Amino acid sequence: MTEQPPLIERLCIIGVGLIGGSLARALKQMGEVGEVVGCGRGEVNLQAAVRLGVVDRYDTDPARAVAGADVVVVAVPLGAMEAVLRVIVPQLEPDTVVTDVGSAKSSVIADVERVYGRIPSHFVPGHPIAGTEQSGVEASFATLFQRRRVILTPLAETAAAAHHLIRRMWELTGAEVVDMGVRHHDAVLAATSHLPHLLAYTLVDTLARLDDRAEIFRYAAGGFRDFTRIASSDPTMWHDICVANREQLLEMMTLFNTELARLAEAIRNDDRATILSTFQRAKRARDNLYLD
Ligand code: NAP
Repeated sequence: MTEQPPLIERLCIIGVGLIGGSLARALKQMGEVGEVVGCGRGEVNLQAAVRLGVVDRYDTDPARAVAGADVVVVAVPLGAMEAVLRVIVPQLEPDTVVTDVGSAKSSVIADVERVYGRIPSHFVPGHPIAGTEQSGVEASFATLFQRRRVILTPLAETAAAAHHLIRRMWELTGAEVVDMGVRHHDAVLAATSHLPHLLAYTLVDTLARLDDRAEIFRYAAGGFRDFTRIASSDPTMWHDICVANREQLLEMMTLFNTELARLAEAIRNDDRATILSTFQRAKRARDNLYLD
């Protein structure tokens, strides 16, 4: 019996952190990748990636790292996407498929358009809806994407074969892959991920600047911990997401501010019916959500 070749002979991961590292681990574990080449700026992280078996070798020069790659995954913070693309694009083989994992999609697509002057057929925008508040390769793990969703936002220009390959790559990690329009993706993620991160950061920052913060945090219980866990996420990454998904995020923040003001008004006016019905509606909605 002849052995099946892996899905990807040579995979280049630019940004071997939580997401890039976890993808490499999952594909290696499945035996679906021949060689993984890592790329980043810091050698300490890349050396750890080799030691942990996440990548087979690395190069700190993205132009060299992508040489001969069948698939390049750009897994750097959103603010670094354009600069990375500028360096790698002239070096790519004609049939190399490029994808990204950025948390907002319009901005990455705009970066791609600026660099190429068009949307190339071999580019497949993607976003795994999975993560933790940790970063770096040491935080990566092979099961991160299992039973999670990965959203692809292919464009009219995207080649069917490239789209299919990236879909298959994510499916092999145990993820459920769905396709979505770019604007819809950014609106949905602004509501479900970007706004909650902003709220957690703002709450912790507000309390941390109070005079009696030590006393306040001493009595912080489980609810506070649950609500604010995501405020430990990487600030640069979340700064980049706010900038990249500005329009959709501002829309959600405006809506949230209106609702918060409405609740403040109800509390001020001792409008108990409004307070209670708001909480009842929210509890019903939360209890009916499938969240693990
Ligand atoms: P991470 O753990 O910090 O990894 C990012 C990696 O990119 C680091 O290893 C970093 O290494 C490298 N990097 C940063 N700037 C670079 C540059 N200019 N050139 C080359 N490498 C660079 O972050 P992550 O959580 O994996 O996030 C990566 C991407 O995934 C982001 O676009 C984020 O929006 C997206 N994402 C994150 C999550 C999440 O929950 N964390 C979920 C879905 C999608 P050096 O500093 O050594 O260069």
